[in-house]
Amino acid sequence: MKSHARVVVIGGGVVGCSVLYHLAKFGWTDAVLLERSELTSGSTWHAAGGMHTINGDTNVARLQKYTIELYKEIEELSGQATGVHITGGILLAATQDRFDWLKGVVAQGRYLGLEMQLMTPEEAQIDMPLMDPSKFVGAVRTHTDGHLDPSGVTYAYAKSARKLGAEIETHTMVKELHQQPDGGWLVVTDKGNITCEHVVNAAGLWAREVGRMAGLELPLLAMEHMYLLTEDMPEVAEANAATGHEIIHAVDFDGELYLRQERGGMLMGTYEKACVPWSVKETPWDFGHELLAPDIDRIAPSLEVGFEHFPAFQNAGIKQIINGPFTFAPDGNPLVGPIPGMGGMWMANAVMAGFSQGGGVGLALANWMINGDPGYDIFGMDVARYGNWASMAYTNAKVQENYSRRFSIKFPNEELPAARPLRTTPIYDLLAADGAQFGVSWGLEVPLWFAPDGVRDEFGWRRANDFEHVAAEVVAVRNKVGLFDTSGYAKYAVKGQGAEAWLDHLLACRMPATGRMKLAPMLKQDGRVIGDFTLAKLDRDDFFIVGSGVAQDYHMRWFLEHLPDDGSVTVEPYGQTLAGISIAGPNARDLLAQVTDADVSAEVFKFMDIRRLDVAMAKAIVGRVSFTGDLGYELWMAPEFQRHIYLALHAAGQDLGLRNFGLRALNALRLEKSFGSWGTEFRPIYTADECGLNPFVALKKDAEFIGKSCATKNAKAGGKLRLCTFILDTKDCDVIGNEPIYHDNNVVGWVTSGGYAHNANSSVALGYVPRELADKETGWAVEILGTVYSAKQQFQPLFDANGAAMRG
Ligand SMILES: Cc1cc2nc3c(=O)[nH]c(=O)nc-3n(C[C@H](O)[C@H](O)[C@H](O)COP(=O)(O)OP(=O)(O)OC[C@H]3O[C@@H](n4cnc5c(N)ncnc54)[C@H](O)[C@@H]3O)c2cc1C
Repeated sequence: MKSHARVVVIGGGVVGCSVLYHLAKFGWTDAVLLERSELTSGSTWHAAGGMHTINGDTNVARLQKYTIELYKEIEELSGQATGVHITGGILLAATQDRFDWLKGVVAQGRYLGLEMQLMTPEEAQIDMPLMDPSKFVGAVRTHTDGHLDPSGVTYAYAKSARKLGAEIETHTMVKELHQQPDGGWLVVTDKGNITCEHVVNAAGLWAREVGRMAGLELPLLAMEHMYLLTEDMPEVAEANAATGHEIIHAVDFDGELYLRQERGGMLMGTYEKACVPWSVKETPWDFGHELLAPDIDRIAPSLEVGFEHFPAFQNAGIKQIINGPFTFAPDGNPLVGPIPGMGGMWMANAVMAGFSQGGGVGLALANWMINGDPGYDIFGMDVARYGNWASMAYTNAKVQENYSRRFSIKFPNEELPAARPLRTTPIYDLLAADGAQFGVSWGLEVPLWFAPDGVRDEFGWRRANDFEHVAAEVVAVRNKVGLFDTSGYAKYAVKGQGAEAWLDHLLACRMPATGRMKLAPMLKQDGRVIGDFTLAKLDRDDFFIVGSGVAQDYHMRWFLEHLPDDGSVTVEPYGQTLAGISIAGPNARDLLAQVTDADVSAEVFKFMDIRRLDVAMAKAIVGRVSFTGDLGYELWMAPEFQRHIYLALHAAGQDLGLRNFGLRALNALRLEKSFGSWGTEFRPIYTADECGLNPFVALKKDAEFIGKSCATKNAKAGGKLRLCTFILDTKDCDVIGNEPIYHDNNVVGWVTSGGYAHNANSSVALGYVPRELADKETGWAVEILGTVYSAKQQFQPLFDANGAAMRG
């Protein structure tokens, strides 16, 4: 074994081998993979080998499509058979709600380049002769699903990587990891030591143990998973003879089952409700090529449905039940990317569908390591999407919830109950007493809307029972004044004598004067937007930044990567050590005036001003800004003061019509202003011109900020896309996100977010379309739940188009 390599990949499962292959393919051949046993000695060897492209996150779906398309390439390069059979698939819906969801999947496929067809159960039966059509209401035919040989695929990656110059050392177990003073890593193995610049943790079932070697506690957990194999079935032989091909891959969502042909019989797997985690605290090192004891009682309820939905199974003999463990993150998506603040430590873990996702994970990670950017929008898989609040017990609860709901419907307004409430703000119980219906954002309970006594959130695809109540909150804000708990926003302190110069380099905006704020886009080297903040200068060498709560660690990672190492600047996230309250609406100034002695008149406390004020008896930082687009203020205070300020505002606000509002009202309010939001409109795949943040990019400022040269070029070229606002002609539904946008009957773009803008009485969608169509007012349509609704482009904000209310 060599004593130094640029990269050490730990783990020779499908994921580690894919990472190694992609590194070698892109030129980093000084890479060595260490495997404690033979390749495929974790969850890889007993996988069912199914593959599919659909995923709730369209960006992950794109990478799944890439993975499946890659198999031909590695088979040819390695000469190793992968056993890939693209049979196509059928997605079955036994309820109308599920069929509505499938319509959305088909619609998404239109702009992802995935061809799919909606069909009746009778039509589906032609392709899937084992099903009983009377048990279903509809189906979708897919064309890229299929199955493969898990071991063949892993060896094809490995052999391809070796051919390109990378190395693999089997029977070499990593025992310790030590970061060196130069930032590199010392990898201690049972065969000797190896130093490297980068370590990739692709240790699958042992990812937590390998993480712990570097002092990390990763939010992932293995679950037991079972599938059965039947004896040969005459119905299968008949179907093969009649159709001339094997029985296609099928997912029966309501039965929570997946099926495919395996030789002359069938394979049926299930994500059972009574699921069982495996090795909750520690994965034993002596686990390898063995299976877990099957527990047929646990999967019996699913099998019963399966036998009803696919009657031929009733006569089939069960040849074997496979039970094996594999790992999941709390939301079921992989954990990929560099660990914030730990240079050279990369994750490729919790890949629960290694044969659909492994290629994409390898591609994104190799891009990221080599070019500093994953090349795709992979926030949905980014290890930084979880903070260190994601404890082992939280992970345990969430992973089990996710597993048991793998094929369940999650309505867009549905909030899942496991591991809650975990993180709460000091006014949580006061908001709850006012009827708050909470959602969760980065583990924190956030009020979504306020329900009258006895009313609770009801879920569905269409407008729900919150509609009129959210409308009332919106009306209160626009006409009087509303209060919202902003503690979930990310807040950072940037201090030091080098702070201003550093921020000038990091952010694309001009630096604010003391006591002022600026909207601050942050660009990557390629000129695309990696952050969007409000930047405030509180004092000399003392800056305050507010951004997206879910992206706190994602942005901290970027900040730390770019922080000078001379100690001249410090950056710290406040997390929940700083709480927030926003007040917004025409009476907001009068309300603030009642709880402070400071002069907050329009002349003195102007739009985008920020001050340290005493609010009631508490110290606070108050900025005049509001995401609602109204006259408004954001108040920031130590958590011990949040309750006091909240109560003081409510006491003073009685006569001013103050009421609480939630995230859903905030969404309705910002839509009327066409304000984009991080994670939906603003993502690292769009340039500032495309997403409309270009007015805040100061191309003419002296500082050489990150991305300036590309942003200058982008501004000249104009970009390919434009973020536009549309008003939809709908009656009982609004967009959720990811719907296709049509122009003149062709799919040309996609929706990023939207909803009902109650004050403007309009169903609004924000989305990206080609730049050359962005000046067209008409000819637009958006597909929601299988129905195409005509739409009109809205060029001006629906509310306060000239900003008079906000600035006044
Ligand atoms: C019953 C079952 C059915 C499944 N069906 C499917 C399916 O149909 N389709 C699908 O896409 N996925 C399926 N999966 C999931 C799939 O198996 C996983 O997504 C995949 O195997 C993850 O691969 P991995 O490389 O991340 O991890 P693993 O396969 O666990 O590989 C990790 C490797 O790292 C090595 N290692 C760990 N620690 C060290 C160390 N310290 N030093 C050196 N080496 C180390 C291990 O020996 C192991 O070989 C199924 C899983 C199970 C259990």
